Amino acid sequence: MTDDRVVVALDVGGTGMKCAVVRPDGVVVRAERHPTDAARGPAAVVGTILDVAEGLADKARADGLTPIAVGIAVPGVVDEARGVAVWSANVGFRDVPVRDLAVARLGLPTALGHDVRVGGLAEARLGAGRGSGHVLFVAIGTGIAAAHVVDGTAAVGAHGAAGEIGHILVRPDGPRCGCGRPGCLEAIASAAAIGRRYAELAGPSADAAVTAAEVAERAATGEPLAGQVWQEAIDALADGLASGQALFDVATIVLGGGLAQAGDGLLTPLRAAMRERMTFHREPHLVAAALGDEAGCLGAALLALDAVGVRDHQEKR
Ligand SMILES: [Zn+2]
Repeated sequence: MTDDRVVVALDVGGTGMKCAVVRPDGVVVRAERHPTDAARGPAAVVGTILDVAEGLADKARADGLTPIAVGIAVPGVVDEARGVAVWSANVGFRDVPVRDLAVARLGLPTALGHDVRVGGLAEARLGAGRGSGHVLFVAIGTGIAAAHVVDGTAAVGAHGAAGEIGHILVRPDGPRCGCGRPGCLEAIASAAAIGRRYAELAGPSADAAVTAAEVAERAATGEPLAGQVWQEAIDALADGLASGQALFDVATIVLGGGLAQAGDGLLTPLRAAMRERMTFHREPHLVAAALGDEAGCLGAALLALDAVGVRDHQEKR
């Protein structure tokens, strides 16, 4: 007997939406990308989300498949229980009832999730954390956010804001964070912060825009300034992740986001710095994410499958 059931999954970011039709075993049968164009305002963005979701459901039906649920991931603060996008700086959402709007439009059960939490879900169940049980997924890009996944379920928090590891205080006298407080982890170790710090120390005469990836490369070739900035970031990350390990005692920490593309240039010194910070806690396996920028979309699909009680398959593949 063939299973013709599929879910429609959307991962909505500040610039683009990754969208897919996904089978219960996690296989993507159709993938699309669409611009978010957030400058149009939240109502227009929601309109595009609904149009794209409906279009994918229709295409799936035309292919002889049966859409059974929709999963939508958005950034910011997400109330998963009520299906409300509470707040998002990138997309401009303020208390948008995305789930109810999607149910009304598509007539399908819909789950709304947080982009990093569903990314963690996908990495824990289908990617680099597979088989680990207790996983902390940490996405390091413009900001730093995490998802704590236990047995395939990501903790949401009482207010939809669990996992904000980027706002752990690591350097009380450090640079001011986007949240308004000085010294948060993401003000020192996010990709954006690393680039800024390098430019600041290099001075006005140097080439201004240096990305974190370039800092990592220059550090690897022995440039002292890059080495210093990179090590500052590694030390701050190790402090933040050690706090995470003290709280959650996970088996595996999966590093995702743009900075994780530095690979061993990040993982090797970070493992060493973590080891220095472990006292009685067990050192977690520190690994790079395996699903790349598809993690959020796959995670939205998993959330949709969970919402309709279809789960078992992915882990068996
Ligand atoms: Zn902060």
